[in-house]
Amino acid sequence: MVTGYPELIFADLTVDFSSWISGVRGRLDSNKLLSAVTWFRVGGPAQLLFAPKDEDDLCFFLKNLPEEVPVRVIGLGSNLLIRDGGLPGVTIRLSGRGFSNIEVLPGKQMRVGAAMPDAKFAKTAAVSGIGGFSFYRGVPGAMGGALRMNAGAHGTETRDGLISVRAVNRSGNIVNISVDDMGYSYRHCSVPDNLIFVSALFQGKDMDPDFLAREMDEVTLYREQNQPVREKTGGSTFKNPHNNSAWKLIDQAGLRGKVLGGARFSDKHCNFLINEDNATAFDLESLGELARARVYEQSGVQLEWEIKRWGNWDETGVVPVFARPD
Ligand SMILES: Cc1cc2nc3c(=O)[nH]c(=O)nc-3n(C[C@H](O)[C@H](O)[C@H](O)COP(=O)(O)OP(=O)(O)OC[C@H]3O[C@@H](n4cnc5c(N)ncnc54)[C@H](O)[C@@H]3O)c2cc1C
Repeated sequence: MVTGYPELIFADLTVDFSSWISGVRGRLDSNKLLSAVTWFRVGGPAQLLFAPKDEDDLCFFLKNLPEEVPVRVIGLGSNLLIRDGGLPGVTIRLSGRGFSNIEVLPGKQMRVGAAMPDAKFAKTAAVSGIGGFSFYRGVPGAMGGALRMNAGAHGTETRDGLISVRAVNRSGNIVNISVDDMGYSYRHCSVPDNLIFVSALFQGKDMDPDFLAREMDEVTLYREQNQPVREKTGGSTFKNPHNNSAWKLIDQAGLRGKVLGGARFSDKHCNFLINEDNATAFDLESLGELARARVYEQSGVQLEWEIKRWGNWDETGVVPVFARPD
């Protein structure tokens, strides 16, 4: 039973899958609240949350899953705003045990599982004298999310050191994708949303481990000083518009520290929305849309969400999406 969302409980999908579900080895949870696994600590239930035990288990599940059932994959939930009415269909979250392998290979290459936290990947690279990955020290997701979002910081992005990605498609088959075929741009990748990345191969640079340790410390210090890293947040709310900064536009629109319900724009870094006081996803998304409207009125710029917003609305209502009047 999901407390707090009694009227939102989805039908138990596993009943429909009774002919094959006993062959699944990973964990299956019906109506699991996603607020437990997102950085914002908001979000209604997943109709079915599946944590595959390993790659074979994931392939078996997807091969059997009827094609009309929607599938989403989540990582550590550091870039996600899941709405209060929850996510219908299947949500997949790769298990740490099955998908966090890491290998240091000859020629300063590394192969890493998609559930490996970015910061641990950065640390392994640094102690192995493999440069180019220290920026991951400050990105609080896992590698699958970094591959999807083309995560980046301090002038480096995921695509810069990437060679190729191994993924499982919606039919449960393995595909390998070269970096050139990922269709990367700023915080975006254009391969289909239902591809589940399971591992990736990276090419680093030969560098001194002591230098890399210092570089990682600098990243940590920068974050501590400039971002609300101990808050319930989703990182940068909006993408930086061309030749501009989202935080500057939000600041100029008078929204630094702005509160709506339990949500607030951080005083420390005003492109970060925070769940300050038991916010709902509705509060957070409403404040984001308010900012899009005010920034447009003030500067004529239409901000684009970087945070992914998914799922159903609950009985509170629907957040009106700001659209340019022209
Ligand atoms: C305090 C803070 C600081 C941040 N700083 C930065 C920063 O400096 N730079 C930056 O780029 N981002 C930053 N972020 C945003 C976020 O950490 C990144 O986007 C991160 O890469 C998301 O990874 P995740 O595992 O949390 O993915 P999630 O938030 O769970 O998911 C994000 C997207 O990735 C997809 N995804 C996740 N796993 C997989 C997979 N295995 N296969 C296919 N798709 C997958 C999801 O479907 C979704 O579309 C920050 C966030 C916070 C909270």
